[in-house]
Amino acid sequence: MPYTRPNAALTVERYREMAQRAGAAASGKELVDLFRLHTQLDDAFATAYRLAQIRHTLDTRDQFYDAENDFFDNAAPEVGNAQLEFYRAVLASEHKQALAEAYAPILLDKMELAVSAASDEVLELMQQENALSSRYQKIKAGAAVEFDGKTLTLPGLDPYKQSLDRAVRKAAFEAEGGFYDRNREELDDIYSKMIENRNAQARKLGYDSYVDLSYKRMGRLGYGPKEVASFREQVARYVTPLAHESMRAQFERTGIADARFYDTTVSFADGNPTPVGTADQLLAKAVQMYTELSPETARFIRFMTESELFDLVSRPGKATGGYCETIPAYGAPFIFSNFNGTSGDVDVLTHEAGHAFQAWVAAGQGMCQELASPSMESCEIHSMSMEQFAYPYAEWFFGDQADKFRFAHLQEALTFVPFGVAVDEFQHICYAHPEMTPKERTYQWHLLEEKYMPWRRYEDDAFMERGGYWYHKLHIYLYPFYYINYTLTTMGAMEFKKKYAEDRDAAWQDY
Ligand code: ZN
Repeated sequence: MPYTRPNAALTVERYREMAQRAGAAASGKELVDLFRLHTQLDDAFATAYRLAQIRHTLDTRDQFYDAENDFFDNAAPEVGNAQLEFYRAVLASEHKQALAEAYAPILLDKMELAVSAASDEVLELMQQENALSSRYQKIKAGAAVEFDGKTLTLPGLDPYKQSLDRAVRKAAFEAEGGFYDRNREELDDIYSKMIENRNAQARKLGYDSYVDLSYKRMGRLGYGPKEVASFREQVARYVTPLAHESMRAQFERTGIADARFYDTTVSFADGNPTPVGTADQLLAKAVQMYTELSPETARFIRFMTESELFDLVSRPGKATGGYCETIPAYGAPFIFSNFNGTSGDVDVLTHEAGHAFQAWVAAGQGMCQELASPSMESCEIHSMSMEQFAYPYAEWFFGDQADKFRFAHLQEALTFVPFGVAVDEFQHICYAHPEMTPKERTYQWHLLEEKYMPWRRYEDDAFMERGGYWYHKLHIYLYPFYYINYTLTTMGAMEFKKKYAEDRDAAWQDY
């Protein structure tokens, strides 16, 4: 897939011209034709952007793509705003219903949301926000922790955090916490600036704070902060006690009387289930699984492997985390992860592949990007349900530990929900109270842990006891207010799990 830097000025120019033509459109057909032109332009620009982003994350030290990433930090908001100008002209047209008929009524709703979430006035702020995100990513990707006689990346610590040797996992957690503690001042500075920046964007666009703006940016239709707050309270009331009970049972099972935070990662006395085989072998098994799962996933996985759309193994310089991105011009999803020998590796092959499958299906239907990417709380239903659909194949990945995998995975789905809503509430607090000092923010996280995850005890770790855990959550920095989606979609995935158990074919068709 060849990469060339797009001409941003020309793209902006073309959008301006198309906005004028949309304003003067004499028929619905003219408007729909213009929208098709927009999709071509959108796909071309997004393709270059995604290629640059993907290659930048593959090696954040590569100077060429580092520069291209900087270019897009500036160019993407400009092009995005020119696109919104076009949206505004379309939405003001008396012929706009033609788009609802040619595509779907929700297209207009999505466009309305998009225009209410950005404008030229916040362009500079958005560029600064992107630069702050890049600064954060560099710190994380550059993390080198000395441990066990090796220099490790942060994901490289994960297997040690699950070690059966209590002293080892305690030390691994301390090594990780130590990294955040050492970089605390810079991380605090970045986050304070992000809050300030995003709240300033919100005020310019006529909102009280970024809380309201973020719901528009997340493309939320039909619910708002009030409904989310009510969901969080239900989690505190119903899910937290159940999760607490399951954690008590876990500590009993593993024979730990005075369980600390670093004990939560061990599900069984004889150790957590770990996947059997190398990254290549796991991928080969995943290919076999998708080939058997359904005719659709069989075609999908052949496309993914023949086009080499995976980069799975952790290595120095590679960005952290895992993601799935789509490259529109090729109708190609791309899966990125940092394999580290834990069961999380298999989760990538099911979770991110769920996203990729959705993207591939949408691309195959030739959808415009606005519709090809579902609302974010639907995205994660695709990924998390795929994790559930993979349960019957767990033997292939975990051998005789398959039952342990299924048990631990399901327990984690449960205990994750209180954590997820705590991350969400933390952000609501931070953006509503920008006057808080970094210390006060961290204390808020401590309080939220007490409310939602009373089984987390840190006594002998001063940094974590103060509430230091929040620093490790990438989404809090890069994807503000995204996190609640995972908890809402856990509910959706559990419905699919139930359906799948009752009637596999019907559940698959529904999915
Ligand atoms: Zn996901």
